Amino acid sequence: MIIKKHEKTLAIEKLQALLRRLPTNHPRLSDVEDDLARRLAGVSGENSIDYPLSFLPSENHLIFHGLRLSHAPHFFQMDTVIVTRKFLLVIEVKNISGMLYFDQDLHQLIRTRKDGVREILPDPILQVKRQQFLFEGWLVRNHFHDIPVRPFVLISNPLTSISSNLEPSLLSQIVIHRDALPDKVTRLSEEFFEKELSPPDLKRMIMLLQKQHTPLDPAILTKHKLSSGELKAGVICPACSYSPLPRVYGSWHCPRCSVKYKDAHVAALRDYALLIGTSITNREARNFLKVESDDLVKRILNSIGRKYEGATKGRVYDLSHFRRGGE
Ligand SMILES: [Zn+2]
Repeated sequence: MIIKKHEKTLAIEKLQALLRRLPTNHPRLSDVEDDLARRLAGVSGENSIDYPLSFLPSENHLIFHGLRLSHAPHFFQMDTVIVTRKFLLVIEVKNISGMLYFDQDLHQLIRTRKDGVREILPDPILQVKRQQFLFEGWLVRNHFHDIPVRPFVLISNPLTSISSNLEPSLLSQIVIHRDALPDKVTRLSEEFFEKELSPPDLKRMIMLLQKQHTPLDPAILTKHKLSSGELKAGVICPACSYSPLPRVYGSWHCPRCSVKYKDAHVAALRDYALLIGTSITNREARNFLKVESDDLVKRILNSIGRKYEGATKGRVYDLSHFRRGGE
């Protein structure tokens, strides 16, 4: 049973907003596009686990995708966690093709691509064991004792060849091909585990995992060495991307499509929240939406802002509901 589904991460939403807002001739545009393409490929690799997971009995395998928890001073993100009453599984999904050699003396992953080019990658076994270690710390801190955590590195491409200097029987305890997952999990549940989570503890764990999930919120402008002044301001036409749309008789009017949009400012303020900040003043909104009337902006901000601080002058409106990851 899927408790927490895959979600479009906040980083992806921010990069998509950034691409809408960067001028088409901006020198950093291709870097931003590469960053987005890399993250989207990661997401499609993570989604490839859904098919093998669908073979697990739904009622006693609770599945969480993309959980990010904190075990001070560290945050750790796990691609997929499976919760059962006897054990927990932490799964790191790797969407890598070609030939993989897990060097367990030097702890590196050597990948040989189809064209013969070799590259060295960080050891995913170390990576998933670090997540296991931090997750175990998180569990103890939340008073779950004696529930074992097992790590898996899941290779999502069925044609990827796997080898190692580790005994195959040892390597296969941790590195598995995607389609072997249901069988591996079933075999684990047949192993003897001394203790089981009680139903109330299981319920408490599910609640805590959901509550303590903290989506990664990267400072995307800083990461790409950009400042807010370099972004295109204005309301954008949802059909043809023309901007800035002028406000004509209570609507945003696209001169290129000759179509009127009532609420096109909502997407613009969402971009503002994703890229610049989650609070905005009337003056800042006038600059970003490219309108002059402070009365109009006041009405707009009152209609979308959930709350605000301060008296009429210098009032700061809250846009944080636009920045919630997911969906
Ligand atoms: Zn248009």
